[in-house]
Amino acid sequence: MQADATSVIVVGGGTAGWMTAALLAKILGARAHVTLVESEAIGIVGVGEATIPPICAVNAMLGIDEGAFLRATGATIKLGIRFDGWGRPSDSYDHSFGGAGRDLPFCGFHHFCTRAAMEGLPANYWDHDFNALCIQAGRFAPDAETAPNPVWPLPHAYHFDAGLYGHFLRGIAEGLGVRRIEGRVVDISRAPETGDVTALHLEDGRSLEGALFIDCSGSRGLLIEQFLQTGYEDWSHWLPCDRALAVPSAREAVSPLYTRATARAAGWQWRIPLQHRNGNGLVYSSAYIDDDAAADTLMAGLTTAAQDAPRLLRFRTGRARRQWHHNVVAIGLSSGFLEPLESTSIYLIQSAIVRLLHLFPHDGRPDPQRAEYNRQSAIEYERIRDFVILHYHAQHRPEPFWTERRAAALPDRLDEKIALFASTGTIVQDPFDIFTEASWVKVLLGQGITPAAYHPLAGGFSRDALARQFEQMAMVKRQGVARLPLHDAWLSATMARTAA
Ligand SMILES: Cc1cc2nc3c(=O)[nH]c(=O)nc-3n(C[C@H](O)[C@H](O)[C@H](O)COP(=O)(O)OP(=O)(O)OC[C@H]3O[C@@H](n4cnc5c(N)ncnc54)[C@H](O)[C@@H]3O)c2cc1C
Repeated sequence: MQADATSVIVVGGGTAGWMTAALLAKILGARAHVTLVESEAIGIVGVGEATIPPICAVNAMLGIDEGAFLRATGATIKLGIRFDGWGRPSDSYDHSFGGAGRDLPFCGFHHFCTRAAMEGLPANYWDHDFNALCIQAGRFAPDAETAPNPVWPLPHAYHFDAGLYGHFLRGIAEGLGVRRIEGRVVDISRAPETGDVTALHLEDGRSLEGALFIDCSGSRGLLIEQFLQTGYEDWSHWLPCDRALAVPSAREAVSPLYTRATARAAGWQWRIPLQHRNGNGLVYSSAYIDDDAAADTLMAGLTTAAQDAPRLLRFRTGRARRQWHHNVVAIGLSSGFLEPLESTSIYLIQSAIVRLLHLFPHDGRPDPQRAEYNRQSAIEYERIRDFVILHYHAQHRPEPFWTERRAAALPDRLDEKIALFASTGTIVQDPFDIFTEASWVKVLLGQGITPAAYHPLAGGFSRDALARQFEQMAMVKRQGVARLPLHDAWLSATMARTAA
C-alpha cells in the first residue's frame, strides 16, 4: 500500500482501537484514510465495563441511538459509584455524578452542610444530591424525557459489555470506511533521518505504510514501548495493586444504577451490573495476598452465582513517558494504566482521541503539536492518579495493606488539596482534571475528611432560614425522584421504542 499524508494506521481492535478508528473516520472524513490491524489470536482485555458521563459525548459524536446502543451492548444506566467499607469497614457513600444542593457564587453547597452540622442541623450532603437519591430509589429517565419540566439534571453513564461494545464500534467504524486487516504485527521500519515509523510488517509478510500510527495494542505497548522504547513512569509506590481477578456472575434481579466498589483486606472488589450478567473482579496487591486467597475473597463476595472461573490479569500502574513519540500516538492501555476504581480508562481513550483531533499534525510541523499533546496527557493522568490515591489515603481501616497506604507519602499536589479542604472546605479544580468540585467533595467527605471551617458566605443566613432551605430543597428533590420510572422499566421501554 502507498503512504499518503493522511494515512492513519491503528494497531489494535480493543475498545481503544475501534473508538479511535470510528472517531477519526467520523471527524476527519476524507482527510484521513484509516486502517485498523488487529490479531484475533491475541484478543482483547475485555473487562472495561463501567464508564463516566463523557461517554455520552462519544455516542453523540458518532450519532448512536441510545436504544440501539443499550440493546447491542447489554448496557444498564450508571449514576455513580457506591464505595462500601472505604473510610471505615462499616462506611458506605456514593460518588454520584453531578452536584448537590445549590452552590452560591464563590461558595459551594458543601460549605452550608459544614455550617449546618456545626450548628446541630440535619445536614447530610447526599440528601440534596439528585443522582444519589435516584440511585437509592432505583429510578431514572434522561433530562430530555422529563422536558418540558425536567425535574433536575441527572448526568449518567453506562455499564456495558466490553466485548459487545467493541463489536458495536467496529460496525460503526467500518460503516464510515475504516479498513480492517486481520494479522499480527511483528516488526516496523523507520526512516533513518527522522526515526519516524514508515511501515508495519505483519507475520504473513504483508506491510502497511502510513504517515501516523496509533498504538492501541493494549498493555504490551507494541509500538510505543516495545519498538520505540519510550520508557514507562512507574507509579506502583503510590498505587501498589498489581493484579485483578475477573469473573462474571448471574444478573441482579433488579439492575442497580451504580457500580459497587467494596474495600477488601488487600484491595477492593467491583460489581458492574449488566442486563445479562454482572461483571465482578478483585483488584489487589500481590505483596499482601496470594492469588488463591484473592480468588476466595472474590468468590465469597459475589452477590449472584458465578458463571465461570476467575481470570487473572496483571498490570503495572503508571504511564508511557511520552504518549506521542515520533509519529506514534499511544491510546488506551498502551498509554498507561490506572486501576478502574473511578472507571476512567475508557474516558482516557476518549480524551486522548479528542486531544489528538485538536492537535492533529499539520503537514511537516508535528513538533509543537506533539509537545503540547504530551504535556496535557501527563497532567490529565496525574490528576486522575491523585484522585485514586485519595481513596487509599483517607481511611481508617485496620488491615496492614490499609495502614501502610494511610502512612505512605502523597504526591505534593494531593497533599496540598487535602490540607486545603480539611482546614476550610476549599476545593481547587486544576486544569485537565476530569473530576469536578462536587466529585472531590463527595469523595473527601465520603472518606471521612470533614472541613474545620466553612466559607464566610455560608454564614450569611440565620440558623432558621438555613434549616428551612435545607428542608425545602430535600423535599423538592424527593418529589422529583418519585416522578421518574424504575430503571429496568425505562431500559425495556427505551429498547422497545427503538426496536419498533
Ligand atoms: C482489571 C481491569 C478492569 C478494568 N475495568 C475498567 C472499567 O470498569 N472501566 C474502564 O473505563 N476501563 C476499565 N479497564 C480498562 C479497559 O479495559 C481498557 O482501557 C480498554 O478495554 C481498552 O483496552 P485497549 O483497547 O487499550 O487494549 P486491548 O483490549 O488489550 O486491545 C489490544 C488490541 O491490540 C491487538 N494487538 C496486540 N498486539 C498486536 C500485534 N502484535 N498485532 C496486531 N494486533 C495486536 C489485540 O489483538 C487487541 O485487538 C479495566 C482494565 C483492567 C485490566
